[in-house]
Amino acid sequence: MMNQVEGLKRKLVKAHKILYMEGVREFIMGHVSVRVPGENLFLVPGHVHEIGGGIEDVSLEYINVCDLEGNKLEGELPNLEELVIHTSVYKNRRDVASVVHAHPPMTIALSISGKTILPISAAGIYWGVSKPGAVALLDNDWPFISDQKDARELIRALGKRRAVVHRGHGMVTVGRSIEEACITAIMIEHTARMQLLASLVGQPKVFSEKTIRNWEEGVGKHVLENNDIWSYLENKLKKWEAGKIPGGPIPPL
Ligand SMILES: [Zn+2]
Repeated sequence: MMNQVEGLKRKLVKAHKILYMEGVREFIMGHVSVRVPGENLFLVPGHVHEIGGGIEDVSLEYINVCDLEGNKLEGELPNLEELVIHTSVYKNRRDVASVVHAHPPMTIALSISGKTILPISAAGIYWGVSKPGAVALLDNDWPFISDQKDARELIRALGKRRAVVHRGHGMVTVGRSIEEACITAIMIEHTARMQLLASLVGQPKVFSEKTIRNWEEGVGKHVLENNDIWSYLENKLKKWEAGKIPGGPIPPL
C-alpha cells in the first residue's frame, strides 16, 4: 500500500498546482482529495492556510491520511475546516475516487446571479455540463460547508452528478480519478467564463440534447480523453514553472 499512497500523494501535489495554474481558485483556497483504493481511507491536504500557504503550496508533507469519519491518521497539519465535503462524498458515492473543492471566480460570479452553468461549449458538454441542470446549484444563503447539516444539503444537491456549485462560495466536483475530478473543475470554470462573456452581449445559446449526445458518443469522446488533457496540463505546468509561459496562462476576463 505504501507505494500506492506515495504515488497518489505525488499526483495530488501536481493536481493542486494545475488547478492554481488554470485559475480554479479564488485567493488561497481549494483542495483535492483521493480515495485509497480498497481502504476506508483518503488523502487530503491539511490546513495549509494556518502556515501561510495556499492551494499552490500543497506539498507531500502537507497531505494527511484520513478515515471516512474525518479522523486524521497521519500528517503534520490539522485537518481542513471543510473536510466534511470530502468525507460525505466518499461515504455517499461509492463510484467516486476523487473530490475537488475550490472557489473559482467565474463559477462563483455566475452562481451569485442565480444562474446555473449551461451546455454552451465543446469542452464543457463533455466534462459535466451535458444539459441545463447537469451542474447543480446549491442556493441556501450560507457560504461554507463545515458541519453535517451543510454536508447533507451538499450531497442532496449533488445527487449523481459530477458537480455542484454552492452560491457565493465555490464548486465541488467528483470523478473516478484525480484527473477526471480536476479536469471537470477546470472545464466548468472555463464554461462559466464563456457564459459570463456571452451574457455581456446577449442570451447564451445552448447546444441541443441531440447534438450533445452525438458529440459525447463520437468526436467528443475521441478528442477529450482524460489522458490527453492531463498530459497537456502536466507539460504546461512544467513550462509554466520554468517561466516559459510569460505573464501566466490565465487570460483576463
Ligand atoms: Zn469552501
